[in-house]
Amino acid sequence: MLALLWKSVPDLPASRKNGGKMEKYILEGATGSWEIVVGLEVHAQVISKSKLFSGAATAFGAEPNSQVSLIDAAMPGMLPVVNRECIRQAVRTGIAIGAVINRVSKFDRKNYFYADLPQGYQISQLYHPIVGEGSLLIDVDGEEREIGIERIHVEQDAGKLMHDQHPTKSYIDLNRAGIALMEIVSKPDIRSPAEAGAYLRKLRAILRYVGSCDGNMEEGSMRADVNVSVRKAGEPFGTRCEIKNVNSVRFVQAAIEYEARRQIEVIEDGGKIIQETRLFDHDKGETRSLRSKEDAHDYRYFPDPDLLPLELPESFIDECRESLPELPDAKRQRYITHLNLTPYTASVITADHETAAWFEAMLEYFKEPDAKIATAAANWLTSELFGALKKLGRDITDSPVSPKQGAELIALVADGTLSGSLAKQVFEIMLETGQNPADIAEERGLKQTSDTGAIEEVINKILADNQDKVEQYRSGKDKLFGFFVGQTMRAMAGKANPAVVNELLKKLLAA
Ligand code: ADP
Ligand code: MG
Repeated sequence: MLALLWKSVPDLPASRKNGGKMEKYILEGATGSWEIVVGLEVHAQVISKSKLFSGAATAFGAEPNSQVSLIDAAMPGMLPVVNRECIRQAVRTGIAIGAVINRVSKFDRKNYFYADLPQGYQISQLYHPIVGEGSLLIDVDGEEREIGIERIHVEQDAGKLMHDQHPTKSYIDLNRAGIALMEIVSKPDIRSPAEAGAYLRKLRAILRYVGSCDGNMEEGSMRADVNVSVRKAGEPFGTRCEIKNVNSVRFVQAAIEYEARRQIEVIEDGGKIIQETRLFDHDKGETRSLRSKEDAHDYRYFPDPDLLPLELPESFIDECRESLPELPDAKRQRYITHLNLTPYTASVITADHETAAWFEAMLEYFKEPDAKIATAAANWLTSELFGALKKLGRDITDSPVSPKQGAELIALVADGTLSGSLAKQVFEIMLETGQNPADIAEERGLKQTSDTGAIEEVINKILADNQDKVEQYRSGKDKLFGFFVGQTMRAMAGKANPAVVNELLKKLLAA
């Protein structure tokens, strides 16, 4: 049908131009520079044991149609009852993005006919959403920007259709029907694919910290509708197209790239953008038209007569606020000011709550972790542990090494028992055997020695064996110092304290 009249879009050069303070992401077309404008509508499945208006379970992966109440199946005469927990999660999420919480919100019916929607309408909140304006801070290449959030409303999810390959049968699974979703609508403040990616990652991190959505895009518990338009710098917003249901951060970025270039090409060829709904085909890396605005449904929204307006007592909102954990921005700031971590390391560790919790569990092992210990722990976590986990294909929640073991390793380096290189060896063995670092160091004799007598003896022998190099060093070839360090370390199987080696070598070479 409408499929693919588009030739492949031109590969317009992209650049980041510094127009004022912020760097701008610009696409260079034939007629000049274009700016991308993006707004995201994210559907986030609420973490709750039961559905928005029924007691049916929400667990992922159950037998089809095994989690469907009479309400979800829309049997006549069934009445919805709001699930307090879903409301609580939406309010907590709203507070976490610094948003206005509306003391009164209302449910509306969005009417349409489809086989995955037995009621014939979706209960949503069009006119009076539960959460009003808020915002998110994103960071792209060290530049911070605030992205506005228009609103969050709660609504029901629909069921799932499965179609037989041979188009003879379709199956309906209503397990998902009636599960609570939060629709989180951004303002059109996003200006590049990278910013869209940063926004989604930050939003996902916050949802996970709050515990209101697991943010799992592959399982569909977080999906994005991507609104894209283009304009010449300084001009009003252009007409947008909406790309429906994109289910990974990478795809969102690719869809924006493609769609922006497509729109520029249409406009530069003398055409006009028509407002339409499109889909992203990730195999082909392109967007395709689904329906134009003229074909858009008239949903005939009206207030749901089965549900009273939702009135939230102040005490309920306070309770929601008090239940929130420390959020990523606050945590990151605390790491920078109190633990002296670099902004970059602080960002990496706070990017997801599991890593931050792991790091904090590691610090708990120290009575009073000072900045030096915190930095050592943070650096080890983000380089050694992350590296090892990547190789093992695991994530931090199933790390073979515990936070306590990691902390012990850092402590052994801090008190001089292990050098950096010995610590690496010990860590390798920890990964293989799960043993504690102190036991490994003890059993395998991997402790560092600061015994000056023993080290001096070794150095004297090396100097005697390398008279020529000693002469060269003394006549000004400073670079040879590294050679002597290397020889000494090798002779001592890497166990000599490097600081002591340096000091003794300087003394003996000067003699
Ligand atoms: P609708 O109610 O038709 O869905 P909204 O005004 O609520 O439209 O906007 C939906 C989404 O589209 C929001 O995320 C918003 O930021 C985004 N949006 C609005 N105008 C534009 C535009 N010109 N270009 C890109 N995105 C836009
Ligand atoms: Mg919309």
